[in-house]
Amino acid sequence: MAQTMIAGVDLGGTAIKAALLTMEGDILRKTQVPTPVTEGADRVIGRMMETIDQLLAEEGQQRSSLAGIGIGVPGPVDEATGSVHEAVNLYWKSVPLKQKLEQLSGLSISVDNDANTAALGEMWRGAGQGAKDMVAITLGTGVGGGVIANGRIIHGVRGVGGEIGHVTVVPAGGPLCNCGRTGCLETFASATAIIREGTQVAAEGKSETLAAVLEQNGALTAKDVFDAAKAGDAAAVKVVDDAAYYLGLGLSHLANILNPGKIVIGGGVAAAGDFLFERVREEFRRYTFSHAAESCEIVPAILGNDAGVIGAAWLVHEQQIGK
Ligand SMILES: [Zn+2]
Repeated sequence: MAQTMIAGVDLGGTAIKAALLTMEGDILRKTQVPTPVTEGADRVIGRMMETIDQLLAEEGQQRSSLAGIGIGVPGPVDEATGSVHEAVNLYWKSVPLKQKLEQLSGLSISVDNDANTAALGEMWRGAGQGAKDMVAITLGTGVGGGVIANGRIIHGVRGVGGEIGHVTVVPAGGPLCNCGRTGCLETFASATAIIREGTQVAAEGKSETLAAVLEQNGALTAKDVFDAAKAGDAAAVKVVDDAAYYLGLGLSHLANILNPGKIVIGGGVAAAGDFLFERVREEFRRYTFSHAAESCEIVPAILGNDAGVIGAAWLVHEQQIGK
């Protein structure tokens, strides 16, 4: 039977997102199931395969119609072997994912880090629109990133290439980061950071708006801070300005080295829209070599939660076109 489809999987600590896609990256069918994370790696891998089989059955197809399975995982991956070095959210250490799933499925398996697959998804079918030199950054609980140079992900020697969230933007005295150092971009531009700063100005009595929301809801969201800033609350505007400053600064370092045509920004914080993007673009221009700044567009991601499965499918697509 002709291989007409690709399976794409976005494996997370809480959910397995899986999709069947055409060879050109159109989603035919998708689903999401809880990750049986406490039952061990073999069970998670088994559940992943059951989910793909279920999608195939619903589509009236069999495994033989798949060109392969692409998977994005939340941790660094050995590019040569498709083994996962470590995935904290899955409690995985040195799991030979590619090998195990190849044995289980009889199919060709491609594995990469989930920040990289999200970047590849945006490159292939999203805001990157085929840009060969592109940086994708996700502003969520943390700050993730993927760097694409000449159409290929930069992995580096240990699979941690593109860790944009840990670019140092404050050399001394910055907030403590999850990585154990201080002053990383993630500690200023993530949702966690914006909530931290918003809560602080509320506690210091600098923002009546945020203090009122905090009083009512018991906690702030990043959206609360952006809403207050958009409504003109000066302290909230300062929080947004600071996040944009550090983001523009961090991105300028990348642009000066890589000269990307596009920087695609996604994740919950990016939902703040032009209010944030205009500020980031202004700071970015301030710190970026002029030719690099002029040739780079900073745009919002457009695929949302589908970026992961589409980018995972790209891994298989890329192998096919390479044959
Ligand atoms: Zn860090």
